[in-house]
Amino acid sequence: MTAPYHPVESPDETTIFPYHDLTPPTTADVYHAHQVVSRYLSQTPLVRSEFLSAEFGADVYLKREDILPTGAFKVRGGINLVSQLDDGFHDPGLISASTGNHGQSIAYAGRMFDIPVTIVVPEDANPSKVTEMERLGAAVRFHGDAFDDAREHAEELAADEGYRYVHSANEPALVSGVGTAGLEIVEDLPDIDYLFCPVGGGSSAAGYCLTVGTLTEATVIGAQSEAAPAMHRAWTEGHLASHEQMETSAEGIATRVPFALTMNVLRNQLPEFDLVSEHAIKEGVRDLFTEERIPAEGACAASLAAMRQRQEELRGQTVVFPISGRNISPATLRSIVGNTNHL
Ligand SMILES: *Cc1c(COP(=O)(O)O)cnc(C)c1O
Repeated sequence: MTAPYHPVESPDETTIFPYHDLTPPTTADVYHAHQVVSRYLSQTPLVRSEFLSAEFGADVYLKREDILPTGAFKVRGGINLVSQLDDGFHDPGLISASTGNHGQSIAYAGRMFDIPVTIVVPEDANPSKVTEMERLGAAVRFHGDAFDDAREHAEELAADEGYRYVHSANEPALVSGVGTAGLEIVEDLPDIDYLFCPVGGGSSAAGYCLTVGTLTEATVIGAQSEAAPAMHRAWTEGHLASHEQMETSAEGIATRVPFALTMNVLRNQLPEFDLVSEHAIKEGVRDLFTEERIPAEGACAASLAAMRQRQEELRGQTVVFPISGRNISPATLRSIVGNTNHL
């Protein structure tokens, strides 16, 4: 088979193809995406957390993205992107690299629109997420030690075999799809002071900047692990260079290479971006489980860790943080909740 597409020059260190338009979406694009996404997904609840409201002396709300199909917010973007694909991309189908939730999102959307999906995952991928991708009908291939190894392999396969490569961040339709969560928050609770959001590839934070950050007075604050600070570095220093250090246990925010499209939005529209410790992330996972009975992923708990660094500032304020995903592996959850020595 000959590849119908060849890579084109990319502004970051990832491979892109001619169908990757890196123009950032607008707030209007998110409204368009909402018309699509709301046909397939119910609105997720915004629920006051009594535990966190008491802890912070604030009104703290959880946006329950964990109750979406696949258990994470990314499915909003997958549905928006895949629903609008050209028929020409249906064979041999889609390929993507993922540590889990992005892959589940594309697998879910591929099944919905009857397009074959291949996902490349790192060798040590969270087994619960791999099983779920397979249940959704995706072909899963293992490659390399970390997300970026899997990503490079997926990029090669796309170039060699003609798959439509679904980038994890340089896709305007993913960002606008993911942003629909922000529109729902604005509709439910327009008077917010702060929204905290984890940053991995940056699609979620970009989506909140284009909605909550644009349509309300709220300050959107990004959070990333200090053990994997590539996006934070890029945001602070204004470049797209990769960062070798990537040791976070929270696979949802484990990226080494910053992405051009999302960084473009974040550099222009994200006012604050905090680094948090791995210890604080695990404490967040523990507390969300023991106090709220939510099996939150480490990536999600990064937001709570960032909130705890701003305790004073949050008193008396209205704060939202998304429960971005619930696909923590049972073994990881057990090690954090059942054994405080692991903290
Ligand atoms: C992907 C993911 C994140 C990070 O989102 P990005 O859009 O990649 O920045 C946070 N939490 C969970 C559960 C995720 O799956």
